[in-house]
Amino acid sequence: MHITFCAVEAVPFAQTGGLGDVCGSLPLALAKRDVSVTILLPRYKFIDAKKFGITPVDKHLSRAVLSPNLDVYFIEHDYYGKRDGIYGDNGDDYPDNLERFQYFCSRVLKTLEQLRKKTDIIHCHDWHTALIPIYLKDQYKNSSLASARTILTIHNMAHQGVFPRERYPKLNLPATYNSAHYLEYFGQINFLKGGIVASDKVTTVSQQYAKEILTKEFGCGLEGVLKSRREPVEGIINGISHDVWNPATDQKIARTYAKDELMHGKTANKAKLQQLLKLPQRDDAPLFAFVSRLVHQKGVDLILEVMEQFLALDVQVVMLGTGERQYEKQIKAYTDKYPKKIWANFEFNDSLAHQVYAGADFFLMPSRFEPCGLSQMISMAYGTVPIAFKTGGLADTVESFNAALSKGDGILFNRFTKKDFFQALRQAIDIYGDQEKFYTLRQNALAADFSWEHAAGEYIKVYQCLLSA
Ligand code: ADP
Repeated sequence: MHITFCAVEAVPFAQTGGLGDVCGSLPLALAKRDVSVTILLPRYKFIDAKKFGITPVDKHLSRAVLSPNLDVYFIEHDYYGKRDGIYGDNGDDYPDNLERFQYFCSRVLKTLEQLRKKTDIIHCHDWHTALIPIYLKDQYKNSSLASARTILTIHNMAHQGVFPRERYPKLNLPATYNSAHYLEYFGQINFLKGGIVASDKVTTVSQQYAKEILTKEFGCGLEGVLKSRREPVEGIINGISHDVWNPATDQKIARTYAKDELMHGKTANKAKLQQLLKLPQRDDAPLFAFVSRLVHQKGVDLILEVMEQFLALDVQVVMLGTGERQYEKQIKAYTDKYPKKIWANFEFNDSLAHQVYAGADFFLMPSRFEPCGLSQMISMAYGTVPIAFKTGGLADTVESFNAALSKGDGILFNRFTKKDFFQALRQAIDIYGDQEKFYTLRQNALAADFSWEHAAGEYIKVYQCLLSA
């Protein structure tokens, strides 16, 4: 089976969030199962050719071979090669993102054709690649790609690629596609809508989110379009890479620890983290961490709403994130006021993120909505207990702790209110104070298995089903 992955982020080359994790890790897991995978990515300025062994193919294209059945092609253009960011700089999107991602979509198909790449399935990810199924239908009817089937995986309904209708001519498509059946959406162009309509299969990244996006609350206006598809949207939960997120082998953390060394490992990493961040080295106060984009989706405002009250308790807080300035400013006000209780930094720092996952006791994830979420799974892999709102992938991956039954691997709250969130935080502090309970909860979190093996198996079933249809 030959699968082509089209995405604008993939680890280790380019990442701002979970999309990058998925598009780098899933191909690796598929390749291990004898699926041949080609990834197509934009060649961003910050991708280091030497480090990754990238060599030029021609002036539009370069390539890296990761394993015998996994290679990556990079589409070259000033759109990517002369910018510092993927989507924008300093929190603002690039004004020409329509042109940037349209170019990528159209170039992907040209590249596949030019390379005579055998492709059974073109797997697109999010709105940036959602024009591909339309170009395939419109411009490749008589080409070697004509028999390729398409899948669109939605990683986040909130990002759809909506642009003014006047810019339609830039898409190089006939007027037929500028209609309510395809790209037109309330007088604008909507890339994601076009992809949902034109692809052979639509999937998303958890079963719960697959149900939620059919509702007005989570569908972000496209619930009707999703419901009108003949086949239901399928939810496949993401995995995490155990080569990357494994406390037993992680060279980025102060002390590696195997499952049976959990308590010692956590204590040592917590002390090191406190030392690094200049927080008092105390093991009697729980340390709560947040590693995320600082955006509305992630419930940063909810954390800020309870912060004053929370910091009045005997706790420590670590926040690492990039995003909206307003949140940075408010968090900074707390770090200035309570430097011994809260530390924050506003950068993307992978190495520090590893140390935080390893050193924290609890992980804060009060997302308003969460298609899948990786951070809760990563924190569990390090024995760090997630505190999460029961939504989307969080509901699918975290089970509320029941002390009487010694079951459950996290703390969930059911209503997105300050009161419920604060109650969850209090519950965490209480559990932390009871060594036996906390040990059980931590062990349960550590025992949860979110490997890519499982997800790869599910995707292979979807691919097979599509090819036999
Ligand atoms: P999303 O994709 O919505 O941002 P996920 O939970 O799916 O959220 O994935 C977030 C990923 O990005 C995790 O691997 C997390 O550790 C990482 N991450 C987010 N912010 C930072 C940061 N500031 N520094 C390092 N890693 C980060």
